[in-house]
Parts: sequence; C-alpha cells; structure tokens
Amino acid sequence: MSTSLPPTIVMKFGGTSVADAARIKRAARRIVAQREAGKRVVAVLSARGKTTDELIKMAEEVSPTPDPREMDMLLSTGERISCALCAMAINDLQHRAISLTGSQAGIVTDTSHTKARIIDVRAERIRQALNDDQIVLVAGFQGVSTSRDVTTLGRGGSDTTAVALAAAIGAEVCEIYTDVAGVFSADPRLVPDARKLPLVSFEEMLEMAASGAKVLQLRSVEYARTHGVRIHCRSSFEDRPGTVVIGEDETMEHPLITAVTHSTEEARITLLGVPDRPGAAAAIFNALAEANCNVDTIIQNEPLGEGRDAEVSFTIASEDLRAAEAALAPVAAELRIARIDTDPEIGKVSIVGAGMRSHPGVAAKVFDVLAEQQINIEMISTSPIKISCVIRADMVEDAVRALHQAFELGAAGIERERPIGQEAR
Ligand code: ADP
Ligand code: ASP
Ligand code: MG
Repeated sequence: MSTSLPPTIVMKFGGTSVADAARIKRAARRIVAQREAGKRVVAVLSARGKTTDELIKMAEEVSPTPDPREMDMLLSTGERISCALCAMAINDLQHRAISLTGSQAGIVTDTSHTKARIIDVRAERIRQALNDDQIVLVAGFQGVSTSRDVTTLGRGGSDTTAVALAAAIGAEVCEIYTDVAGVFSADPRLVPDARKLPLVSFEEMLEMAASGAKVLQLRSVEYARTHGVRIHCRSSFEDRPGTVVIGEDETMEHPLITAVTHSTEEARITLLGVPDRPGAAAAIFNALAEANCNVDTIIQNEPLGEGRDAEVSFTIASEDLRAAEAALAPVAAELRIARIDTDPEIGKVSIVGAGMRSHPGVAAKVFDVLAEQQINIEMISTSPIKISCVIRADMVEDAVRALHQAFELGAAGIERERPIGQEAR
C-alpha cells in the first residue's frame, strides 16, 4: 500500500531577493515557513544582486571575446554562492538543507554554452534528499551538457531551472519570488500606476516575455506551458498573492490589451546591396541561426526593377551583436554584400492582448499615440495578439507611458470600464 507524499513546491528567489545577508536570511525564513506548513521544498536561487553582471565584466577585462565554455564555468559560480549561504542560514533555523549545483541536481542541457537548453532533468538526487526530509537548494541558471561541461541557460535562466524542476518532481506550483509584486500591465519601475495582473494566460505571457518583460524568462514560460506547470510570480518582500499564469482554457476574459512591454537592449543590423535572388535571405539567416543569434523583426526592401540589389534589416538582442557580426562576415563576402551597418541604440515597444485578435483599429491607435509623441517608428512586427514597434532606445520610456495611458491599462482605467460586481483579472 502506498502512502501519499506531502505536496512539493518549488520556490525560486531572484537576484535582488538574495542580494545581501539579511535578504538571504529572509528567503531562508520563507522557505522554512513552507516546510513547517508541511510542504516538501525545493528552492532555486539566483546569483546575488549584480553578481552575474560583475562576472561578465571580469571576463571581458581579461579577454575581449571570452571562451564560452570558460564563461559558463565562471558564471555558474554566482548561483552556487547563493545556495551555499542560504543552506547555512536554513541550518541555523534548525532545519536540514542541502545545496546542489545544477549538475548535481540532474539538469542536463545541450552544448550551447551561455544559452543552453534543458533536455532532461534527472531528479533522483533531489527526490532522495526530499525523502530524507531535507530542504533542497538548487543553483539556478546552470546545468551539465551532454558532453559533461558546465553550461548556463541564458540571462534570467533561473526561472527556467525552477520550472523544469517543478515539472520533473511534479510540484503543485512553481513560485517565482522577485522584486516586484507580480506581472504588471507595464514595467512598474517605468509606469508607477501599472496594474498587477492577478491572472495572465500562457499565450499572453509568452508574448510579454518575448517582447521584453523580463519578470519571467521566455523559456520558463514555454517550458511551463509544455509541461503543465503552474507558475505563481510574487513578491519576496510581502506575502500577498501575485500573478498566476494559467492556460487559455482556464480564463474566460480576453481584455483588448493586457500589457505594454518594452526593451532597450536591442541592436539593428542592415545589409545593403544584397543580391536579389533566391537563397540570399536563407544564407544570411542560416548563418545567424548557426551562431545561435535569435533574430527578431526583419524587413526586406524589394528593389524597384529587376536585377537591383535589396536591403535587409533586422533586430537582435544587443548581447548577440558581436556574434552576429562575426557570423555574417563570411556570408557577406560570399554574396558580395556591399555594406553592413549596425545600430546599437535600438529599442522596442509592444502591446500585448488576446482581445486584439478580434478588434480592428488597435494598430492604428498605437501609431497615432506614437505620432502624438513625435516618436518615429522604424520597423513594425505583429502577431495575432501583439504589435511591436522598433523605435530609438531613448524614446522607449515615453512610448511605454503614452501607450499605457492611451489604452487605459492603469488601475484607474480598469475601475472605470468594469461593471460593478465583475471580478477584476
Ligand atoms: P529577478 O532577479 O527576481 O529574476 P528580474 O530583474 O529578472 O528579477 O525581473 C523582475 C523585473 O522585471 C522587475 O524588477 C521589473 O522592473 C521588470 N519588469 C519588466 N516588465 C515587467 C512587467 N510587465 N511586470 C513586472 N515586472 C516587469
Ligand atoms: N544570474 C543570472 C542572470 O543574472 C540568472 C538569473 O538571475 O536568473 O541572468
Ligand atoms: Mg529574472
């Protein structure tokens, strides 16, 4: 006869939430409180404060193009420090805790250093420790590759560690503790009256994460959707509920617009004089894919008249700019591309909302609002539930505030629109 195990939860604490000794102790108390409430707890920790940024800077001080394998050895140390310290703090609260590296925790990844993908989670050691009544602390953002090297999962990757572990051990929820109270209608640091969203659908959260709302790493949302993990994103500094990410079928409401998102960490590459023939675009974008550069908005200007050269322009994450330039050099030579221009000062503002699918006129309103602010739109891309505009990086803040206000996404706007008695979402 099998006795059912107590529920297991995964609690992930971000960098700000473990930035100093007092915060590590606070996280330890929160973890212990869940244990004392009868839960089995796996906690995933990020590197403290700005540690990862500092490690990257240290690498760049010794090498302009650090070797990716060694970079991962270096970056993985940040999260290990947090876990070891938190285990010490938990032990002092009279509970038994064990810290594990990503590799010890059984996180197996592919071999793409600094951007690895989780391909398997072998969680036996975690299960053993939980059965042995221990609290398990896992270093986020890292794993071990199929060729047995340490890998990291890309910026913000501890979210994905947490979700992957939650899936592997069948946790009832994956709690993401962070420095804001949940997922908001815009970055609350930029828009003070942004509204906390009690619920957000996977579909919308994916678009939000992909367009810059870094509160959840894009891959963590993808992983949670595929594996049916419940994510609860909440504050590590207060106890109120935050935002639960739910399946589309669980939500009845589809507000027209849910959020405005933004990014200022983008760059644009323009290829001038691209031969106008089949295969040119394929050669360019295959080279970028092989270099693991994620391309975002793409525009190709068709030349007027046959045999004329085309212009291809696209945006990528700033952190990929150097790798993209290196990947493009041989293709440019082969295709005899006349010139490659790069612009690192690019930003993007997007609006996301499942309701826009069935509402014409949303794009026109976005363009009107930006025009009123004298903001020039350089590129546009859309999905059924998202409209993104590429603009100058220094115009992004104004654009976000203006769009948030125009679509009445703030707490006040929602109160006015909603009939009394209808639950806010
Ligand atoms: P952590 O270190 O906990 O992983 P991150 O810095 O990765 O935290 O993500 C949290 C940050 O995401 C917040 O401080 C906030 O500035 C930013 N953010 C951007 N867009 C949003 C949004 N729509 N809702 C909530 N936070 C957002
Ligand atoms: N420490 C890593 C970063 O700063 C991973 C994370 O925090 O999730 O990106
Ligand atoms: Mg994060």
